[in-house]
Amino acid sequence: MNILIAEIKQEVSTFNPVPSTEHDFVLHWGDEIIAQHHGVKSEMSGAIDIFCQHADVTLKPSYSARAITSAGVLTATGWQRLSHDFLSAIAAVMAQNDTLHGVYFAMHGAMSAQGELDPEGYLIEQARALLGDHIPIVVSLDLHGILTDKMLTHSDAVVPYHTYPHTDFYTTGQRAARLLLRIISGEVRPVTARVAIPALVRGDELITASGLFGRQIRMAEAFEAAGGPSAGMFIGNPFTDVPELRSNSVVVANGNDAGAVAAATVLAEQMANDFWACHEHMQVPLTSLAEATALACECVPGTTILVDAADATSSGASGDSNIILQALVAAGYRGQALLPIVDAPAVQAAFAAGVGASICVPIGGALDQARFTPLEMILKVRLLSEGNFVNESDGAVWHAGPTAVLQAAHYTIVATSRAVSLYNRSLFYAHGCDPAKFDCVVVKSPQCERHMFRDWAARYIDVDAPGSTSANVRSLGHRIARRPLWPLDPVAHFVAKAEIFARGQM
Ligand SMILES: [Zn+2]
Repeated sequence: MNILIAEIKQEVSTFNPVPSTEHDFVLHWGDEIIAQHHGVKSEMSGAIDIFCQHADVTLKPSYSARAITSAGVLTATGWQRLSHDFLSAIAAVMAQNDTLHGVYFAMHGAMSAQGELDPEGYLIEQARALLGDHIPIVVSLDLHGILTDKMLTHSDAVVPYHTYPHTDFYTTGQRAARLLLRIISGEVRPVTARVAIPALVRGDELITASGLFGRQIRMAEAFEAAGGPSAGMFIGNPFTDVPELRSNSVVVANGNDAGAVAAATVLAEQMANDFWACHEHMQVPLTSLAEATALACECVPGTTILVDAADATSSGASGDSNIILQALVAAGYRGQALLPIVDAPAVQAAFAAGVGASICVPIGGALDQARFTPLEMILKVRLLSEGNFVNESDGAVWHAGPTAVLQAAHYTIVATSRAVSLYNRSLFYAHGCDPAKFDCVVVKSPQCERHMFRDWAARYIDVDAPGSTSANVRSLGHRIARRPLWPLDPVAHFVAKAEIFARGQM
């Protein structure tokens, strides 16, 4: 059995004014892909491990493009390069003249490019055109992906994450690989029931281990545990303003079983109805910047975490917000605060001055100039690094570019040249900063695994700050997503109605 594997993963915020380019991706071709994923707990490594358990499987690795982190919309040039490379690599595998039996794609689902509002859908459609109608394609996706009709029409099945915060990258790849093998063997003939839900949700109730969203995920997990091919929820990335942005329930049935499609339809509608019943609770209660600053200035024993999810680099924000820093400075903060920021010019100045030197530089506002104003500070250069480090979530190396730890009396700033994900503590740890040793830490991620900050923090405060990934989604100005869409619009009634996607059987 010859199985082609490929991946392309990026999540964008269309409200980040800085476009991303092909240089914001790590690219690999052919066997490099297997080496790149060795020892990393990714979807691709999970899938590879399942395929490698089968002596009769020969992997045909084609192409991998992994965004260094989430970012702004991909430029037209970047998109042309990546889409051309993705499809050319598939064509190159096909030119080897070995019969292909199946295809696995690892995708995120929340890409957007200048001139292409459904990049993943386009790639699956074009891959289908190359492969013909009979080679099954299974796609794993982030549950923040925007699931489109095109993706469902041209793939055989989708397999979404079941956890948020995400801890199941690896097992999602395993689930997708097992399903692909079942389809290739003829055991499963996939038929997908999808219910579109006009809602965007955020907040703690989305935590699958403890929140209301976990109820729908348990239904999906029970379906798969009983042998069902795939089920899950897609909640979209609210900051990716594209036509099909919304939430969806999905159940992939085995069309070989009489009654399975009807049962899957019922389950997809139950999951959608259960989700809708609690959608108004799936929002973030935010604390105003003034109140959050006042709470931080009380300097209670322990660490106050100020969550600045409006500048969440892992959701596509620019990462250069200094809003909380400015508020603390203006309030005369007296504790020890730790803050991450993307500021290439400040890092450059730090490298020019060297460790131990003091520099006077503007901090913040280097990228999203409409939202943030640079703040001039005198800072001592404490540490300089190349910015490559292993992250604690999946073990992959992250690339922050040249990085400087800069210090003033009450502030320790980890300044990176480029955005890097901040949904764990890795950037801090890699630069000698233990968050637990600070009075106040700014965390630029809507959710982290509990043990990372929340479990030990004295206070954990979701701050209402401006930014291109604000949980205050009405503040962002969506223009492209189909309306009505709650909470951008009032949506009084919702009737769950499953649509069926079955390739070759329509
Ligand atoms: Zn996600």
